[in-house]
Parts: sequence; C-alpha cells; structure tokens
Amino acid sequence: MRITVVGGGVVGLLTAVECVRAPGVTRVELVDAGPIPSPMATSNDRLRVVRALHRGEPALTSAAARAHAGWLEVESLIGSRFYHPSGALTAMPDQNVAATLAVLTAAGARAWGLSQIDLAGRYPWIRFPPGSGAVLEATAGVVLADQALVAVARWLGSQPQVRLHPHQQVVEVTQHDQGGMIRFADSTTRTADRVVVAAGPWSRELVPAAVASDLTLYRQSVLSYRPQSAGMPAVLGLGPAGDAWLMSAPAHSDASLRLSAASACRPAAAMTDPVTPDRWREHLISVFTGVLPGFDPAAVVNCFDGFYLSERTRGGPLLASYGAGAVWAYAACGGMSFKFAPQIARAIADRAVGATPRPTGLDSVDRPRFLAAAGKE
Ligand SMILES: Cc1cc2nc3c(=O)[nH]c(=O)nc-3n(C[C@H](O)[C@H](O)[C@H](O)COP(=O)(O)OP(=O)(O)OC[C@H]3O[C@@H](n4cnc5c(N)ncnc54)[C@H](O)[C@@H]3O)c2cc1C
Repeated sequence: MRITVVGGGVVGLLTAVECVRAPGVTRVELVDAGPIPSPMATSNDRLRVVRALHRGEPALTSAAARAHAGWLEVESLIGSRFYHPSGALTAMPDQNVAATLAVLTAAGARAWGLSQIDLAGRYPWIRFPPGSGAVLEATAGVVLADQALVAVARWLGSQPQVRLHPHQQVVEVTQHDQGGMIRFADSTTRTADRVVVAAGPWSRELVPAAVASDLTLYRQSVLSYRPQSAGMPAVLGLGPAGDAWLMSAPAHSDASLRLSAASACRPAAAMTDPVTPDRWREHLISVFTGVLPGFDPAAVVNCFDGFYLSERTRGGPLLASYGAGAVWAYAACGGMSFKFAPQIARAIADRAVGATPRPTGLDSVDRPRFLAAAGKE
C-alpha cells in the first residue's frame, strides 16, 4: 500500500511514522509546502505542554492522561530526547483540589495537591489568586517542539520506504479510482492508495466545503519573556480569570518563558502574518503584571501570534474522511493537538491502512465525519 501525507507538522510527521510501522505499507510520501519540518508549521514552536487535566471534563482528562506515555514512546522509537517531564501545576480554588485530584488519579495520572502556603513557599515569584490551592501533575511536561520535529523528520528520512517532498504546495486532494490524488500548484499530480491531509490551520483550503464551513479559525498571542526560571513545571490557572498560563523551558535550555491566556485567543477571519497587534501585546502585559510580581515589560523579548482551527460546534479537533475512505483529513487541529499527536497519528494511520483504529479517547477522532466523494455527508 502507498500512502501520501500532506503536511509536515507534528500530526503529519507522526502519522507518517505510524504508516511506516504498519504492516503492508510499501511507500510513505510526505509532502509539505515548505521545508520539512517547516518553520511555518503551527507545531514549530519552542515549547508545547503535555498534561492530563481538563477541568470539568473527566473524559478528556482520561484521554490526555495517555499523552505523557505517548511522548515517551515516540522518544524511545526515534532515539532522541525532546520531552521533558517537568510537570504541570494548575491553580484553582483550594476547595476544588481534592475533587480534581480524584479525577486525575482515576485517569491514571500521578498528581498531588498543594496548599496556598506550599505555593507561596515553592513559587514565590508567582502571585496566585487569594484562596488558591493547586494540583501538581508529575506525569506531565513540555516537548521541545522544534527539536522533536527535526528528530522525527530525520528518522523518517532514514527509512527506506519514505520519500520526503519539501517545497511542494498541494492545491487539491481528490478521490482517484480506488485511491486518492493530490494536485500541486504547478498542476502536476501524484496518486496513492490513501491520502492523509494534516495541513494544520491551512486545511480549510484542502477539505470539502461541507467540512471547511464548519471550522473556525483562532488566533492566539504569546509573549516570550526573558527572566526565566528554567526547569519549572508549566503553570496554569493564573490571573483573575484563571485562564493565564506560562511555560518554562528545561533547566539546560536557553528558551525564554512563554506567557499567554485564553483571553488572548480570538476568532480570526484569515491567516495573515504572525505579528501581534499592539492591543493584544498590551493585554498580555497587563495580565502578567498582575501574575508575576516585578514583571518588567522591557524583558518581553518577543511577541507572536499562532493559529489553529476548531470544529465550530464542539470546539475541538475534527477528523473527516471522504472519497470512500481514500482521503483522511485532520481538518481541525484545535488548540491541543500537539500533546495528543502520538495518539491521533496512530488512529489516523490505522484508519488509512484499514486496521482497527486504536481509540484516542477524543470523540471527534474516534468517530470521524464521513463524506461522500462530492463532499456531501
Ligand atoms: C499559541 C499556541 C499554543 C499552543 N500550545 C499547545 C500546547 O501547549 N499543547 C498542545 O497540545 N497544543 C498546543 N497548541 C496546538 C498545537 O500546536 C497544534 O494543534 C498542532 O501543532 C497542530 O499540528 P498540525 O501538524 O496539525 O499542523 P501544523 O503544525 O500547522 O502543520 C501543518 C503543515 O502543513 C503544511 N501545509 C499546509 N498547507 C499545505 C499545502 N497546501 N500543501 C502542502 N503543505 C501544506 C504546512 O507547511 C505545515 O508544515 C498551541 C497552538 C497555538 C497556536
């Protein structure tokens, strides 16, 4: 079986890996509009958090509790180190800590509770909301995302059945005979038994209109802040709304802190450049002035915007299939696909090769949307 994957972000790269490992696959082609990996890919940032807790969502927490093991397995297969299990700390009202711990433990995550006194002693440089406790997940951490993509691309490049095709923009993906066909910007085409589309926030341009019209584009601003406390856990649940977060690099890394908040995420009409408008930069500076005592706006070394697509009604990822199963499109990556990528990639590869799909625990991946060739459900 020959499989072509469109998109060399984390989902496309790991799906290609899983296709290589699947029995009966003789050729895996990976195509990207840019280099592989591409600096433009949403995945290609310094840090991405892996953690289990989704407050008020026990099923999602259960699914996310498997992401930690998923990344350790990817590291072991690829033979490179890019996942740092430095933990994740989530602040919350003290009275919610015990119930949250119970959900995490039931999901299989290792975690413990911290009181307000513990927080003040351990993290004096963070101002937690009054009455806060926190849960600290040990089975959580950060992926050095850019390093992971390079390592996975290198592994793929060393596999005899893999061909990497950088700098080839795909403009159309359709059914062809029993398989799929992709058309490039220069009008040339390539056929395969199965085509997987993992084009991140650009997927709207490649999927049928019936799917594209159900996707919402989001844009999120992030600050890079130089005074760092390397080796810290990721910290979430900060600020008056409890929606601000910071990601810290591993101890040996020189990466700055990443600071953002859900309030800096908004719908966007189109993907333009990643330059953060002044008002969103100022918004985050104002949030973190309240969160980090002594916050110095002059130490903001960078500010950039990232994009992702979400399924409109349920607000998360979306897997769709069309062309009688010839094309599998990860149409919406949502705001959390990096951590789930090992699980998602396995499920997509299973579908593409016709194996029984291993469940991810993500409803919209485990129950994909099926469309007929013409794009009608
Ligand atoms: C600010 C921000 C912070 C985030 N933090 C986290 C986090 O902490 N944890 C987490 O789990 N998730 C996080 N996410 C979400 C996560 O980064 C994304 O869901 C994930 O990286 C998407 O990966 P992908 O492979 O689907 O897409 P991408 O990484 O965007 O890759 C898509 C690839 O497809 C290629 N492509 C596009 N169109 C074409 C075409 N027509 N022809 C050929 N190639 C094409 C692109 O060049 C690109 O290389 C965050 C997102 C943002 C914006």
